[in-house]
Amino acid sequence: MAQMRKKSVEKEKIPVASLTSLGCAKNFVETEHAAASLLQAGFGLAAEEGSENIRYINTCAFLKSAREEAFAHIREAEEWKKRKKGRFVCVGGCLVAHMGAAELKEKFPLVDLFVGIDDTASTGVLLKKVMEKGANMPEISGTRNFVCSHDTPRLQLTPSHYAYLKISDGCDNRCNYCLIPSIRGRLRSRKAEEIVEEAENLLSSGVKELIVIAQDTSAYGKDLAGKSLLPDLLKKLDGLKGEYLLRLMYLHPAGITDELIMTMKKMKHLVNCLEMPIQHIDDTVLKNMGRKIFEKETRNVLDTLKKNGFALRTTLMTGFPGETQEAFEKLLAFVKEFEFRRLGVFAYSPEKGTPGAKMPSRPSSREGQARRKALLEAQGVLSEKFNRTLLGKETEVIVDFPDGEGSYLGRTIIDAPDIDNLVHIESSGTVLSPGMRIKCLVEKVSKYDLFVRYVPAGNGNTRINDKTGKKQGKGGGK
Ligand code: SF4
Repeated sequence: MAQMRKKSVEKEKIPVASLTSLGCAKNFVETEHAAASLLQAGFGLAAEEGSENIRYINTCAFLKSAREEAFAHIREAEEWKKRKKGRFVCVGGCLVAHMGAAELKEKFPLVDLFVGIDDTASTGVLLKKVMEKGANMPEISGTRNFVCSHDTPRLQLTPSHYAYLKISDGCDNRCNYCLIPSIRGRLRSRKAEEIVEEAENLLSSGVKELIVIAQDTSAYGKDLAGKSLLPDLLKKLDGLKGEYLLRLMYLHPAGITDELIMTMKKMKHLVNCLEMPIQHIDDTVLKNMGRKIFEKETRNVLDTLKKNGFALRTTLMTGFPGETQEAFEKLLAFVKEFEFRRLGVFAYSPEKGTPGAKMPSRPSSREGQARRKALLEAQGVLSEKFNRTLLGKETEVIVDFPDGEGSYLGRTIIDAPDIDNLVHIESSGTVLSPGMRIKCLVEKVSKYDLFVRYVPAGNGNTRINDKTGKKQGKGGGK
C-alpha cells in the first residue's frame, strides 16, 4: 500500500519553476511577488539549474538593449521547451506592458502565459489555469493600477540580511527620454502604515538593511496628498526598533526640499550616501530632457546635501539631443569638481514613443558612448583617489557572501548591493556571517574595490560607524 502511495506521489511530481529577474530592483520585488504566488498555487521553485519544468522570466523594457536581453531569454526558453514535453514558459514584467499581448504572442508563439503587470501577484493562479488540459492563455490585463501592499504575498529572494522596500509604482515626471511612465503608469504611492508594517515584518525576519526604492522616491505621496510625504514616511521607518540601516535610492533632485534634508539629517538609521540621478548639468540638455530642474538649482541641492554630511551616488546620461561638445565638457568638468562617491553613466538610447526620440541635434551614438567612457574614466580616477585615503585605516564593512576559504565579499556602508563597489575581506580564520557589520583594516585598494583584513572586536575594540565617522562603542546608532 505504502509502495503504491509513494509511486502515485512520485507520479504526481510537483511542477517546479526557475526564476529569471531582469532589470531594476523594483522589478526584482515583482519577481518576489510572482515567486510567492507560484508557491501559493502549489508550484515548487527550482533548487538547482536544470530541475525546472517551468521557466518564469520577469522582463525589463525601458531600453532597447533591455528588450533585446528579454527577447534572448524568452527565445532560449522556447528552445528549451521544444526539447522536452511537459515544459512551460511564463513571461511577466515590463515587456508585457510595453509590447502588449498580440505582438508578443506572434513573436513568441511557444510562450504559455504572458502576465500583465497588474496580475504579477496572481502569476501562480493564472499559470495553473493555463496548465490545465487544453486551457487557453487568459486575457492579458493592460491596466497599470496595481499597488502592492504589506499583505501581497512576497518571497524574499535577496540574501536574508537586506531587502528592498518598494514605496510606490509608476511615475508622473515624464522625462523626455523615459518609457517608464508609459510602461508602469501613473504614480501610485502605497499607504504609509502598510509600508511601515512591511518594514517591521522584514526587520523581525532578520533583515538588517532596508533599501527604499521607487521610480522617484522623492515623489512619494504626491498622488495621495498633493505634496511629498517622504519626510513623514522616513520618520516612521527610522522609528522602528532594532539595529538596521535604511538606504534611500532613486531620489529626484527636483524633489529635494529643506524639510526632507532636515528629516534625513536627524535620522538614526539612514545611510549617509543617497542615490540621486541628476542625468546632466547643462541647462539646454536638462531642458530638452524635461528634468524640471536646472544647473543652478541642481548645484544648490548637491552642495546643501554635501554640507549636511551626505555623500552622493548619481547617474548621468550622455548623447542626449542638444548635448554639444561644450555641454559635455561642462558635465565632465562638473564630475571632476563635485566628486560623487559613486557614479553610473548611460549613453542615450532613443526610445520610440518618447519625445526625445523625435528631437533634432542628437550626437551620434559613437559620440554618446565615447563621452560615457570619458566620464567613467574621470570617475575611476576620483574613486581610486578616494580609496587611497582609506589605506591603512579601519573602515566598517557589511559582510555579504563567503568567497572561498577564510574570505568573504562585502561592501562599505555607502555601497548598495549589486550595483556598487566590492570589499574583499580576509577574515584571519574567523567565521563571519552575512549581514554582520565589522571593522576592517584597509590593506590594498583598486580603482573601485577595497581589500581588507577583519579586525576582531577587542583589537582596539572600537567600531567605526561610517555614517558619522566617529569612533564609538557597540550598538550602532548615533
Ligand atoms: S523620474 Fe524620469 S527617468 Fe525616472 S522613472 Fe520617472 S520619467 Fe523615468
